[in-house]
Amino acid sequence: MQITKNFTLPELTTTNTGIANQPDKEQIAALIKLCGKVLQPARDMYGAAISVNSGFRSYAVNKAVGGARNSQHMRGEAADITVHNKEQNKKLFELIRDNLISAGFM
Ligand SMILES: [Zn+2]
Repeated sequence: MQITKNFTLPELTTTNTGIANQPDKEQIAALIKLCGKVLQPARDMYGAAISVNSGFRSYAVNKAVGGARNSQHMRGEAADITVHNKEQNKKLFELIRDNLISAGFM
């Protein structure tokens, strides 16, 4: 399922733990909101590919990766993202901080 122009549901639910990681309707709705309000706008501003290292995590996946007990990843409200090099990651962080966090979503 394509969520926005550059983000797909599989990309946000992939895990290398081998554990089932299927979001329910409510969690999918949160992922759609996350892509629409944060990830896609960030991608558009940044102007190049953004990789999702970890998006949605089921309870078991979150536990397996040592996530916080009340992690927003379990609600589909968080994604750990990265671009190719550290300097660029800083630029992406600043873009999000300066343009999207102030919009009140994060
Ligand atoms: Zn995270």
